[in-house]
Amino acid sequence: MNKLKVPIMGFTEEQETFRNEVRQFIKSEKDTFESQVDSWLSGYSPAFSQKLGEKGWIGMTWPKKYGGKERSSLERYIVIEELLAAGAPIAAHWFADRQTGPLFLKFGTDEQKEFFLPKIAKGRCFFSIGLSEPNAGSDLAAISTRAERTENGWVLNGMKIWTSGAHLSDYMIVLCRTSPKNPDRKHEGLSQLVVDLSSPGVTIRPIKYLTGEEHFNEVFFENVIIPEENIVGQEGNGWRQSMAELAYERSGPERILSTFPLLEELIGTLRENKDFQGMKEAMKLLSQLYSLRHMSIGIAQLLEEGADVNTTAALVKDMGTKFEKNVAEVARLIIASSPSMTSEVRFEKLLAQSILHGPGFTLRGGTTEILRGIVTKGVIAE
Ligand SMILES: Cc1cc2nc3c(=O)[nH]c(=O)nc-3n(C[C@H](O)[C@H](O)[C@H](O)COP(=O)(O)OP(=O)(O)OC[C@H]3O[C@@H](n4cnc5c(N)ncnc54)[C@H](O)[C@@H]3O)c2cc1C
Repeated sequence: MNKLKVPIMGFTEEQETFRNEVRQFIKSEKDTFESQVDSWLSGYSPAFSQKLGEKGWIGMTWPKKYGGKERSSLERYIVIEELLAAGAPIAAHWFADRQTGPLFLKFGTDEQKEFFLPKIAKGRCFFSIGLSEPNAGSDLAAISTRAERTENGWVLNGMKIWTSGAHLSDYMIVLCRTSPKNPDRKHEGLSQLVVDLSSPGVTIRPIKYLTGEEHFNEVFFENVIIPEENIVGQEGNGWRQSMAELAYERSGPERILSTFPLLEELIGTLRENKDFQGMKEAMKLLSQLYSLRHMSIGIAQLLEEGADVNTTAALVKDMGTKFEKNVAEVARLIIASSPSMTSEVRFEKLLAQSILHGPGFTLRGGTTEILRGIVTKGVIAE
């Protein structure tokens, strides 16, 4: 099959009715949170996560016996899309819902599934993802954090960096070396461990974001003892398992909607100002969003069918994150304003958030250059 082919999906009437249910819920909650840009990474509210858990909207595609609702990927897409569009605070459970749950379902033991999944689905157990290190970002296989097997379990030493939400999470999935590094086969000998972040020997130091908020972290592991059974999947299979998570990471609505609250506010302001010239520019953004959204929804469907979507997911992330940044650029150019994180004017506050969060959009989850390499290789290999 053509690696860049994505089906055009529509939503059924039943699914649109469900969308209205989600919208009604968000409307009923609107006084409990302040809508913000990039809310999937920075909007932390365990209370809101728990409410979503009660609605059955976390882990909603998972088997019922693990606390899921066995709903479709497209229904999950609807929930995520509406929450992102509203700028709702969903960061607390984000990684657990998007990738740790599916990781356990695919590679975890029965005990791991029974222990973690129901708590995640209730919005009461939060995870962070420990991949990057100071000398291993794009070249992830260069990681040197290592775990040694002992009589007491694994002993973990090393450091992770840029770990989103580690200071607010219960656990981290740590990619580490469980066999010595072979320079010719760097991808081998890696494993994934579940690390309880309250364990002795774990130090978490937040790194301030451009906005001044604390969001991502340096995390140090010093002789941290981890129970033997906390390995996920097969020892030495960590690279393959981590890569399997990436397609979920790259093509979702969070790669196109991070600045949607600003786009909505921009259109509202232009309408109020009767600024027709500005509105033309905003409509160009909307038409780009329309195409990106269809690609992203099509990939969600392909993922459900078990297709290999690595190339298209990389393409959507590249185009989607560029679009997210461009929303801020267009907004800045067509409305004279003084963006500020403390402004009372909603447009100015959202614009400041978008400008200051923007640099991260094209770095996190794989940089633009790396994604373009994946797309090029994918197309050439056809
Ligand atoms: C907001 C945010 C949240 C993050 N959250 C997490 C998290 O929760 N967990 C986690 O593990 N990590 C996280 N990261 C880290 C992120 O995954 C890395 O920043 C990313 O993989 C790039 O790695 P690096 O920063 O080391 O940059 P480098 O890999 O050093 O890249 C620097 C520059 O060189 C370019 N470059 C590198 N290699 C090549 C190449 N082969 N060809 C062409 N150009 C190249 C890159 O494109 C980039 O422009 C987060 C990052 C951000 C910004």
